[in-house]
Amino acid sequence: MTREQQLQYLEAMGVQVWTARHAGSEAAIEGEPVTPDPPVAAASVAEIPAPVAPVPDVLDEADSAGLDWPALEARVSECTLCELHNSRTRTVFGVGNRSADWLVIGEAPGHDEDQQGEPFVGRAGQLLNAMLRAAGLQREQVFIANILKCRPPNNRDPKPDEVACCEPYLLRQIELIRPRLILAVGRIAAQNLLNTQTPIGKLRGEVHQFRDTGIPLIATYHPAYLLRSPTEKRKSWQDLQLALRTLREQGT
Ligand code: SF4
Repeated sequence: MTREQQLQYLEAMGVQVWTARHAGSEAAIEGEPVTPDPPVAAASVAEIPAPVAPVPDVLDEADSAGLDWPALEARVSECTLCELHNSRTRTVFGVGNRSADWLVIGEAPGHDEDQQGEPFVGRAGQLLNAMLRAAGLQREQVFIANILKCRPPNNRDPKPDEVACCEPYLLRQIELIRPRLILAVGRIAAQNLLNTQTPIGKLRGEVHQFRDTGIPLIATYHPAYLLRSPTEKRKSWQDLQLALRTLREQGT
């Protein structure tokens, strides 16, 4: 990722860009606003090598016995397995490329998502889109889903029994998509996907594996948190760079 692309990313995320006072320095620092560089093209996904990793056996076995996309979507839309079906407006199944390399998994629908039936809309969604663009990805190129398909009232944390009820839907989506990388955004997603109570601050910054699938999983902060804590945006950028690096290494 070039410096120009980093600057573009930071600007898209709303991070004020500062540069070194000394001419010729390449180091971007906090201190003095400057005229933005001319826009540069984001890194093309074509730069990411084609997948070569074998499909894990566990996915093959599940895939042969599971629901296809239309059946899965219909099952979710009618689901009453947990109490959240009482308060939802719409289920939020997930959107995007069903053959995506990247699977982005968040926590649960919020108010806007519940109304529109789509994950990551509103301000947090716009920030996620900006993050993806900086990594060379359009929103339509990835698949975006949540741990829960229905909104918890007042945006409370998901309850363990709700996560347990809803997890088979997400697992089936993972089996169908067969992503090359999972990006877990936010504490709830990361902790549930990794079956841990470790804080998100300690989960981010390294490459995990999603259970026994062999799919690399990288945790990062939720865009809603970044809106409240903009100083953490640089760490999320580092996480995206780690994700890009992981995909490149996976392809060699
Ligand atoms: S949250 Fe999941 S398990 Fe609960 S009602 Fe919605 S789709 Fe069903």
